[in-house]
Amino acid sequence: MSQVFFTKDPDQVAKLFDAAQLGKNIAKDDFVALKIHFGERGNNAYVKSDRAKPVVKKVKALKAKPFWLDSNTLYKGSRSNTLDHLQTAFDHGYTAGKTGAHVLIADGLDGLDHVVKTDALIAISHFKGHELTGFGGAIKNLGMGLASRADKLEQHSDCDNCKAKPNCRKKENIESCWVGSSDSVQEKMAEYAAGVATKLKNKTAYINFITDVSENCDCYDFNSEPIIPDVGILASFDPVALDQACVDMVNKTDGRIKSNDKFRELWPNVDWSVQLKHAEKIGLGFRKYELKEI
Ligand code: SF4
Repeated sequence: MSQVFFTKDPDQVAKLFDAAQLGKNIAKDDFVALKIHFGERGNNAYVKSDRAKPVVKKVKALKAKPFWLDSNTLYKGSRSNTLDHLQTAFDHGYTAGKTGAHVLIADGLDGLDHVVKTDALIAISHFKGHELTGFGGAIKNLGMGLASRADKLEQHSDCDNCKAKPNCRKKENIESCWVGSSDSVQEKMAEYAAGVATKLKNKTAYINFITDVSENCDCYDFNSEPIIPDVGILASFDPVALDQACVDMVNKTDGRIKSNDKFRELWPNVDWSVQLKHAEKIGLGFRKYELKEI
């Protein structure tokens, strides 16, 4: 069982950081990646920089070196190469001037390089619906969100079961492919997340914002009306417990989607629990949690 900390106030991330002791494994001079999704241009549901930036101050108080981090998208959009991505981050308020931390895009100008090295990582995730994985939270932000374009393609494809395989050049050209089933994508994304967490040993931490909970992910250039009112922010060292706690909170909150399984109601063909079950099976964390409201 893992501890998950919670505050109802979405503007109190610094207080939550302290209560959950998220800085306890960060050392002086550590490079600390703050993994965030800056939101596609046109989307307005992503975590706003004013709400996330107190984390920068907290990390700097530990004499460590925080920076915002994301990687380029597989599909063509406002974040599919580093220059467009930096512009989108800038337009959405993620600038050194406004937040105190610079922005790095992990996988090079065109998304073809390998991911940047860091000493520690805090994944700051917007918890929302997702048409392929049911919901997107900490596991998705880390596993899919931090992967290079080639690794995103790997997660979305299922070449062994694809009729197009003999003539397909997508992997050579790093082109979009959405053949993988929901279950397969969820399992792979949990494995990628576990890869990052294992590499960084005990130096990862996770914060989820249950705010502006839209039906789809922030990769769309639009967002739906929230399916529930804002719930608050949660934090943990365990991304599985954290995402499980967030699903449970969304499901018990009354909103415009009337169901005690809101993501299943939105995406009936997607079993969102696959990512949690697989993540637990491979040792990324535990689905059982103890919730501590601060
Ligand atoms: S279309 Fe996608 S899944 Fe099919 S062979 Fe090409 S890359 Fe693989």
